[in-house]
Amino acid sequence: MAESRIDAVVVGAGPNGLAAAIVLASAGKSVRVLEAESTIGGGTRSEALTLPGFIHDICSSVLPLAYASPYFRTLPLAEHGLTYDHPPIPLAHPLDDGSAAVLDRSVAATASGLGHDASAYRRLMDPIVRHADLLTRQFLGPPRPSTHLVTLARFGIPALRSAAALAASRFRTAHARALFVGLGAHSMLSLRRPATASFGLVLAAAAHAYGWPFAHGGSQRLGDALAALLRTRGGTIATDFRVGGMAQVSGSGAVLFDLTPRQVLPIARGQWPDGFSRQLQRFRYGPGVFKVDWALDGPIPWRADACRRAGTVHVGGAFDEVVAAEDAVAAGQVADRPFVILAQPTVADPTRAPAGKHVGWAYCHVPNGSTVDMRERIEAQIERFAPGFTSRILARHVMSPAEMERRNANYVGGDINGGIADLRQLFIRPTRRLYGTPNRQLYLCSSSTPPGGGVHGMCGYYGARSALRHARWS
Ligand SMILES: Cc1cc2nc3c(=O)[nH]c(=O)nc-3n(C[C@H](O)[C@H](O)[C@H](O)COP(=O)(O)OP(=O)(O)OC[C@H]3O[C@@H](n4cnc5c(N)ncnc54)[C@H](O)[C@@H]3O)c2cc1C
Repeated sequence: MAESRIDAVVVGAGPNGLAAAIVLASAGKSVRVLEAESTIGGGTRSEALTLPGFIHDICSSVLPLAYASPYFRTLPLAEHGLTYDHPPIPLAHPLDDGSAAVLDRSVAATASGLGHDASAYRRLMDPIVRHADLLTRQFLGPPRPSTHLVTLARFGIPALRSAAALAASRFRTAHARALFVGLGAHSMLSLRRPATASFGLVLAAAAHAYGWPFAHGGSQRLGDALAALLRTRGGTIATDFRVGGMAQVSGSGAVLFDLTPRQVLPIARGQWPDGFSRQLQRFRYGPGVFKVDWALDGPIPWRADACRRAGTVHVGGAFDEVVAAEDAVAAGQVADRPFVILAQPTVADPTRAPAGKHVGWAYCHVPNGSTVDMRERIEAQIERFAPGFTSRILARHVMSPAEMERRNANYVGGDINGGIADLRQLFIRPTRRLYGTPNRQLYLCSSSTPPGGGVHGMCGYYGARSALRHARWS
């Protein structure tokens, strides 16, 4: 089916594709979104993966970046059914002695739980949290020289360090060190790599400034709210429509791809000079993830009380162990004791499960395309800090990197961030042109563009703005 008389086609209905479509529709353009799968939402899909009545987030669950997103904040998404639920504690990180490091909503409460590191934590985070709005705009925007050099200097210098070096040099306690490298591990890189500290700082600052909420009823509600808003602004969405070539999108003024370079290349073959295709081919993907979802008979019986009230729990033990687990993945191996990122949405949102029951969501990093079954290792790590966990499992659903890619072609080899976010690809993503291509009709707007992975819609926002400025709309 060829699309005709449409100003813009957006390929992919993930949060970035939908954000791009809303920007274009709000500027008066006619927009059609084409989605390969039978449901919209991309990484915000939710489904009853285990048992009836249990709602599981297939991909994203913890939504600080969506909640803080400078673009989503301007949209009336609440009118379309989106509300957020904040857990009592954003994050806890249990240790073997039965205690836990806690990332609380306030810097002061977090610091007070870190003993000898209380003032070091305040010195690190206070200036960042004070300027959180400005830094959020900087971090969730395309790279550009800052007009706020003083703030950036205070923030930028530690941010460029490795998470391991920053934690080891600033903190003395096991709690603070483990907490910080756990946050840095969201980079999906060895924690000895430069700039991994920036992930820790951004995520900690987000917890203090905005919280780490869940979408009430499941992340799908965010995708659904974006789609509903788009429709009120005249946009249309077709599902079960996998775009495989330019013939399917011809006749439109601009085409925006909410896809990663690997998928864009075969679709747009011949649309630009070979040199640009080679640049896209050089784009590098990062490690994959192995994920397990559980329907649970009750809450997870954590030994540390704080973990029972936390929306997210980092399960990986002490500093050395977290660093070693991520080093193993960076070296192409799986960790025997993986670092597990676990969310328990029912702590904040009981509607996700029948009365008294709970859902659990967890993943660990694995080498890209890994075929190793990590289910037992993930469950053993949780059992270590929550004895009796496995006896509460009513049903489980397991997703390998291959299964993740089968459900969403953007997750190449299980890479959930649309490409590795090392120092180079953090800024030059996927090419120096960022959202643009040598063809003024074609644009990129997925997490393979700045600011990268996560549900925030900012790649879509900037991709669409670039198209509005440069496409030949006549
Ligand atoms: C297991 C997992 C856990 C995550 N946890 C979090 C989290 O807690 N918090 C967070 O902020 N982020 C999280 N993320 C990351 C987040 O989901 C992604 O970064 C985000 O969804 C990227 O948005 P996007 O719009 O760029 O792409 P996607 O959301 O991947 O959307 C791309 C869309 O394009 C469609 N598509 C692909 N190929 C075609 C084609 N040829 N034709 C038409 N349509 C096509 C796909 O079906 C999909 O709907 C997680 C991801 C995963 C997988």
